[in-house]
Amino acid sequence: MNLPKTGFPMRAGLAKSEPARLAAWNENHVYEQLMKKNEGHKKFVLHDGPPYANGPIHIGHAMNKISKDMIMRYHAMQGEQTPYVPGWDCHGQPIEHKVEEKLGTAKFNATPTAKIREMCHEFAVENIELQKAGFRRLGVLGDWDHPYLTLYHEHDAADIEVFKAMFDKGMIYRGRKPVHWCKHCHTALAEAEIEYADEVSPSVFVRFELIDAPEALAASGLPVDVVIWTTTPWTLPANSGVALSPEADYVAVEAGGRLGIMAKALWEKVFHEVAHLEDARLFTPAGAAEPWVAQGADLVGTTYKHPIFEDVTGTVVTADYVTLEDGTGCVHTAPGHGVDDYYTGMRCNLPIIMPVDDDGRFYVGEGYGTGGPFSGMDTDEANPKIIEFLAERGTLLAEKKINHSYPHCWRCKNPTIFRATDQWFVSMDETGLREQALDQVLNHVAWYPDHAKNRIGAMVEQRPDWCISRQRNWGVPIPSFTCADCGEKVMNDAMLDAVIALFKEKGSDAWFTDAPESYLGEACVCPKCGGHHLKADRDILDVWWDSGVSWKAVCENRPELAYPADMYLEGSDQHRGWFQSSLLTSVGANGVAPYKAVVSQGFTLDGQGRKMSKSLGNVIDPNKVCDEMGADIIRLWVASVDTSSDVAIDHEILARTSDAYRRFRNTFRFLLGELEGQFDPERDGVPFEELLPLDKLMVARLTQVQAEVDDAYRGYEFNRAYRTLYDFVVTELSNVYLDALKDRLYCERPGSLARRSAQTVLAELLSMLLRDLQPILSFTCDEVMAYAPAGCRDGQTYAALLEWYEAPIALDEANRYGEVLDAAMELRGVVTKAIEDARAEGTFTKSQEVRVRAWAPAEAYALLTGDMACDLAEFFIVSEVELESGEEFAAEVEPARGERCDRCWNYRESTGEHGGHAHICARCAEALEA
Ligand SMILES: [Zn+2]
Ligand SMILES: [Zn+2]
Ligand SMILES: [Zn+2]
Repeated sequence: MNLPKTGFPMRAGLAKSEPARLAAWNENHVYEQLMKKNEGHKKFVLHDGPPYANGPIHIGHAMNKISKDMIMRYHAMQGEQTPYVPGWDCHGQPIEHKVEEKLGTAKFNATPTAKIREMCHEFAVENIELQKAGFRRLGVLGDWDHPYLTLYHEHDAADIEVFKAMFDKGMIYRGRKPVHWCKHCHTALAEAEIEYADEVSPSVFVRFELIDAPEALAASGLPVDVVIWTTTPWTLPANSGVALSPEADYVAVEAGGRLGIMAKALWEKVFHEVAHLEDARLFTPAGAAEPWVAQGADLVGTTYKHPIFEDVTGTVVTADYVTLEDGTGCVHTAPGHGVDDYYTGMRCNLPIIMPVDDDGRFYVGEGYGTGGPFSGMDTDEANPKIIEFLAERGTLLAEKKINHSYPHCWRCKNPTIFRATDQWFVSMDETGLREQALDQVLNHVAWYPDHAKNRIGAMVEQRPDWCISRQRNWGVPIPSFTCADCGEKVMNDAMLDAVIALFKEKGSDAWFTDAPESYLGEACVCPKCGGHHLKADRDILDVWWDSGVSWKAVCENRPELAYPADMYLEGSDQHRGWFQSSLLTSVGANGVAPYKAVVSQGFTLDGQGRKMSKSLGNVIDPNKVCDEMGADIIRLWVASVDTSSDVAIDHEILARTSDAYRRFRNTFRFLLGELEGQFDPERDGVPFEELLPLDKLMVARLTQVQAEVDDAYRGYEFNRAYRTLYDFVVTELSNVYLDALKDRLYCERPGSLARRSAQTVLAELLSMLLRDLQPILSFTCDEVMAYAPAGCRDGQTYAALLEWYEAPIALDEANRYGEVLDAAMELRGVVTKAIEDARAEGTFTKSQEVRVRAWAPAEAYALLTGDMACDLAEFFIVSEVELESGEEFAAEVEPARGERCDRCWNYRESTGEHGGHAHICARCAEALEA
């Protein structure tokens, strides 16, 4: 018999074999070979989103990089030029924070900026090497020796080039505006750097005494207040207004010898339930039939005594965002401490007071704009003191603790405060940036999945102006100067050009060491006073700006890449982060999105849908999985999950993935066992028309599968490609077709048409699976290459260099054959059932002992007996099939005719004495003879 033979090992041993294979790829420059092979072809540029360079890689990184690699390998097989330049995000608070931890805060604060930056640089570079090794181990092909780092000089310069382009268009302005401020990190934070978490806050109901109460109320002779509610008592010193809903009804509540104005809808809750003033009731003016009521709009312009600074007057205004859900319907407004408040203040001419310093302490002083009685106190410290102060003055109506969602610093996890400071902003509306960016998002970029478009669209639509300044050391400076003579802020094109030149040459470190006159030259002049003493300002750019301008620093600057890029692919959190900062800088500078397509992916969670954390003990470390199971198992896992939403991974899931891996590996091994050293499609292949009918059906099937896989890859639905291939390999190949083929492969004469026909299909299957699985099982497919016939591998040594698979027949034709195969599969199910029943009764032990009488409905009968029909006995692995037309699919089994052949175990009437062999069927006799 012709038994299978291959050197391809059954056991994978990936953990051991992969590092050796990786070394061979590097030594033989497989990535460079790939670039060479497709040189001059159409480019496909997937621009790498730079991971942050702190700490080793995690499973989310692994999914990200493997997904990119799968896409690039697929596009490279299409013959496209696929340069992949990995990058790292190097600046920013997290690294500076590590350095601060290392030095201790006191020493850190005493260390010169240049030295801190040096330490940050070192830290980033060390971590990049660590991450790079992790990414390479996963089998990701790319230009690893020439990555992009946001700390490179050219990147520093690109930061300012983009800044200048937007500055020239009038999109960048300096303004005093409340921003999220972390008093621990001493910096402004962007919306993307904020995490919301529950926080217990003191909530207080406070009476502000009116100076000019409405006449109907003043006539009562009682003092009249407006009752406000706030969860941040420390912002009361900065109060300058009270906002009401313009159309809501307000009433006056009489309690304790005072009248309190507040929303009608809330008064009982506040006075009865919270303040426990059971006898509080609505005030009815003398002679009136109904209690007093007014709309918010009627009360605009009313003034009150400031709750802390008695000689200060506040004003009642209205605002659309005032709701009647919580509080009193009268919103304490401190424009220096809130965004809504700020806009209301601007609109209504309320003073913008901000009495809190960088550390979150009140300025010392007595007047409005200082902490007054709370001078020098921290905001948290001041809260209870302010409540005490109000209680003593009798203006505290009620107090209770509430639990609510509150913004926290992404880095130090402390609650943030809103604080109006002088910052640099990108205006979303002044020059139409928002509108243009939205147009790009909605009409000029392809989003995968499609609904990601709405997500980023809504974010761009609603986002406030982008605060781009930070008060830290480790970043690219905002290129502004202050005149030492007159205090003027100075920025103009000549200066920006000089700074760009400086950064190109020496990098942004020079900003902190070189004197402005040394690089500004003629431009070193104050336009206001004509002085020449300019001081470089100390704000740096938001780190999202750094990574955001990589389209300029990398895609546009590196000749092998292209701008706009064909694709960005990152986690869905980048809708707030990199997708958006890239979009805004690119649209801002050039009017176009930096990407033609964006793939957004979900997060990696554990098997129960929980976040991974050390304390839960559910962290899957990709480095460890590589060392224990192999990178191909992680790659297969990535391919198996729907990355467009959150995905799960744990040890059990990895074990299942490992089982799936074995099914693919065994299939490769089976194919190689019948081909290696004995068949090459170019020499031995049988043309489609001459294939045996069953083999034609299988070629048709693989053509259909290939079309499906191709479509899935093209839509970046790896899990659909995986599922299609897995089902094909397991349910059709292993369990049906390959099993049915064994008789022919093992028993027919080598070189016979029957065997060559089967091998031809096996070679097609091998060629197809090598290419379809190469993006996923990159190491294993590469391993298969060494055993595969040259004709199945384009004569290549490395799987990465393969061309995409082209099926031998057209899909239309395949679909016609497919109908026959579908009918045969349906009948097979009925036949298998009949055989199993007979086996259960003990009538037969093997399917070969069986002869089948089967019935099929007219349509199926026509297909199964038509000119595309196959040998059903071979397909079902029985001795004979007698098919008749019937009502429905049905089958009966009876003993096979003839005797068992000792060689092939088939029951044949021809079995007997042939050419000196006893008990051999005629077919086997002929094979033995040959
Ligand atoms: Zn912080
Ligand atoms: Zn000046
Ligand atoms: Zn035989």
